[in-house]
Amino acid sequence: MLRSMHTPADFEGVLRGAELRVTRPRLAVLEAVHAHPHADTDAIIGAVRTAVPTVSHQAVYDVLRALTAAGLVRRIQPSGSVARYEARVGDNHHHVVCRSCGAIADVDCAVGEVPCLTAADDQGFTIDEAEVTYWGLCSECAATPITT
Ligand SMILES: [Zn+2]
Ligand SMILES: [Zn+2]
Repeated sequence: MLRSMHTPADFEGVLRGAELRVTRPRLAVLEAVHAHPHADTDAIIGAVRTAVPTVSHQAVYDVLRALTAAGLVRRIQPSGSVARYEARVGDNHHHVVCRSCGAIADVDCAVGEVPCLTAADDQGFTIDEAEVTYWGLCSECAATPITT
């Protein structure tokens, strides 16, 4: 798994590589998504504002849409959750979600190289993504007695 430190110059290169104009909000959003995997929009806005205090909600939404469309960011939305974003793209990994606190973690494909894209019967569809969500309790919630 790649968990390298990124410099602002790296993010500029990432934007240019996707033929996106380099702007401060785009750099800040890209950096925030890298630093906070599976963050929701509010958390990303909070992180972006530490770098670009004047950025509007709409601007962050627009940047997230552009980055997602360019394939630099992946948008996931487990049922019952708001949209969340991550910078780990292109490997079709899955997610495990805690039913209690909503924590999300990455889960690699069960075997080898994106085998989940090979459906038993593709019904004639050209499949490019398999979205698998495992549900359960995170270790913290599993260790806490449920109080209602
Ligand atoms: Zn939990
Ligand atoms: Zn993920």
